Amino acid sequence: MSLAQFLPWQSDTARAWLGQRERFAHAWLIHGLAGIGKLQFAAAAAASLLCESPRQGLACGECAACAWVASGNHPDLRRIRPEAVALEEGAEAAADSEDGDAAAGAGAAGGTAKRAPSKDIRVDQIRGLESWFNTATHRGGWRVALLYPAQSLNVISANALLKVLEEPPPHTVFLLVADAPDRLLPTLLSRCRRLPLPAPSPQDALQWLQAQGIEDAASWLAAAGGAPLGALRLARTEESACPPWLEQLAGPLSQGQSPDVGALADVLDKLPAAQWIDALQRFYVDLMLAGAGAPSRYFPALAAAVARTAARADPARLAEAGRWLTRQRALAGHPLNAKLFAHAALQRVVLSCQA
Ligand SMILES: [Zn+2]
Repeated sequence: MSLAQFLPWQSDTARAWLGQRERFAHAWLIHGLAGIGKLQFAAAAAASLLCESPRQGLACGECAACAWVASGNHPDLRRIRPEAVALEEGAEAAADSEDGDAAAGAGAAGGTAKRAPSKDIRVDQIRGLESWFNTATHRGGWRVALLYPAQSLNVISANALLKVLEEPPPHTVFLLVADAPDRLLPTLLSRCRRLPLPAPSPQDALQWLQAQGIEDAASWLAAAGGAPLGALRLARTEESACPPWLEQLAGPLSQGQSPDVGALADVLDKLPAAQWIDALQRFYVDLMLAGAGAPSRYFPALAAAVARTAARADPARLAEAGRWLTRQRALAGHPLNAKLFAHAALQRVVLSCQA
């Protein structure tokens, strides 16, 4: 583990914000587009708040507090996130010993029985903070609760958090991170100061991606809709910026031919549904842009095929299929039969793209 740093396009916001520490609010909602580095910002902010000798408000990276934060062992820092997210964070999360918050939560919920990791921030994760609030902080400094993604709070845990924020514990700062603040309880929102994070300029995003050693950074950035951390994630998990199966779908469609839906469904069946639905949703954005004579946003590599398809298809049917995909995206976590679902989705796509 290493100490979280602010991303280049965040430094100005961070300095201005952390500079006013005397009047610092006790709960912040850090929000902005997905994939622009909100969590990294919040983690770097937590480190800065806990640092014993901050420089221009930012963590020094050298003091004992910074070392504790970097190793995941600072007693005044807690990460509150769904178990599923903690697991995704992988070995790092498993190895860090932050009081074993995820593990303790799992134990409290019923021991050894195998169950799917929770995608919610559960109420016992909020209630479990009580004893932490009652413990003195290291050298009387801040206590920082990093909670993400805030939209994973369910109604019960959100209400428990609301109670905490109504009578905030001393020296405690809550940093909530969310893509979509509108999905949070209004009462909870009203207890938080908002900190909107800027998205980087395309140039900054590209430069940063290249500095991470990503080849063909522009294609990855396009595939992620301009979000650099989203692009980095794609580049590390995908073989190409444009999924091969999408090329195999788009090619025949552009020729007015039927793609091999059965073979494609076999491919999609092996992917998380959310992933391929996301790709299809982007494909539809490109189709609709092409229909309006605008250049492709997500898959420049498919621009020619997309333009030919859009020229032939009925815009109303394209728009309808796009909306259908958006609705499916909400269910993508648990399709009843993944392969059947992929098959049905592909057939709908093919139909909507025909003349
Ligand atoms: Zn420090």
